[in-house]
Amino acid sequence: MHIIVTGGAGYIGTHTCLELLQSGHAVTVIDNLSNSCQEALRRVERLAGRSLRFFPADLTDPAAVDDIFRQSRDAAAVIHFAGLKAVGESAVKPLLYYHNNLTGTINLCQAMQRHGVKNLVFSSSATVYGDPASVPIREDFPLGTCTNPYARTKAMIEDILRDLHRADAAWNIALLRYFNPVGAHESGEIGEDPNGIPNNLMPYIAQVAVGRLPQLAVFGNDYPTADGTGVRDFIHVVDLAVGHLRALEKLAQQPGVAAYNLGTGHGCSVLELIAAFEKASGRKIPYRITPRRPGDIACCYADPSLAQRELRWKAERDVAAMCADTWNWQSKNPNGYRSDAG
Ligand code: NAD
Ligand code: UDP
Repeated sequence: MHIIVTGGAGYIGTHTCLELLQSGHAVTVIDNLSNSCQEALRRVERLAGRSLRFFPADLTDPAAVDDIFRQSRDAAAVIHFAGLKAVGESAVKPLLYYHNNLTGTINLCQAMQRHGVKNLVFSSSATVYGDPASVPIREDFPLGTCTNPYARTKAMIEDILRDLHRADAAWNIALLRYFNPVGAHESGEIGEDPNGIPNNLMPYIAQVAVGRLPQLAVFGNDYPTADGTGVRDFIHVVDLAVGHLRALEKLAQQPGVAAYNLGTGHGCSVLELIAAFEKASGRKIPYRITPRRPGDIACCYADPSLAQRELRWKAERDVAAMCADTWNWQSKNPNGYRSDAG
């Protein structure tokens, strides 16, 4: 199949493009490189031993998007990763986030409609559940109160896509709700390369381990969890990427709109992740306990059984593998893709 991948140069996008190419699919990437670089795509091609087609375009430019679809007549489906994702920045620049994520998605869907491509896999997030009443979280839990504009863009886009299917049953849409993607391809050639100081736990730990940052701040140890620190469902990015291929296969059965949790079903605390990373890397991770980060919840992990049943997908890699692969990527590329502009 020919798959159009928006945001394909980014962290999850690169890993998914690699899985797609390795499975024999043709891939067209649309990315404005606002949070990524073309070197990442060159490495994907090298690993796959195959090439993909790349359009350096912005989804907020409807003419550019339409033109790409005009040049992609055999496209069967779209995987839509492109979006801004920094929670803190979204509170400071809400209009940028609403414009980029919502307008970008609407332009994309309009082009898809015009060109008769009505199969879509969308990158949603566990953040749409807000602070869940209980864990593990099932897809039929009520969608919660979002605490920031980023989260609201995900909830709003889910609504837009459900409306789209209500209006035209020819659309088939998988809303994939990711838990906490971490790790890197086992080659260490592609991985997460955040701009500036990382907001998320795993890349922060990795940069402390490699000496780019002096110390980790653990945001609170007074949560009602076993060791008092936050608990999350970390999922290996390669498992997550494979989930997209299973979702594409599901769309071929014309399921309409369906939401799936992509997580492992296991909770891991901040202190447990630090300990696992120290073991994988052989490096000490200095940390200090600081007050809670506003907006954080205590505990969040998935019930992934729906994806297991309906997508025939299950996460296979454990926290030890997530840490080992993150460390392999980070130690080979201490400054991310910038250390080898290739
Ligand atoms: P990323 O920033 O690495 O990748 C997103 C890509 O989209 C980047 O390459 C960026 O340049 C591109 N992009 C952004 N706006 C664009 C636009 N208007 N036009 C064209 N390209 C644009 O992020 P990621 O971690 O790979 O996340 C991919 C998707 O998954 C995002 O939608 C994100 O919100 C969602 N998600 C990520 C996580 C996570 O923890 N990484 C969790 C849940 C959901
Ligand atoms: N966290 C932390 N220090 C950091 C970054 C994150 O203690 O520098 C904690 C955070 O409070 C949460 C967990 O790590 O309990 C996961 O945070 P992350 O930002 O990676 O993901 P999210 O909050 O989106 O689940």
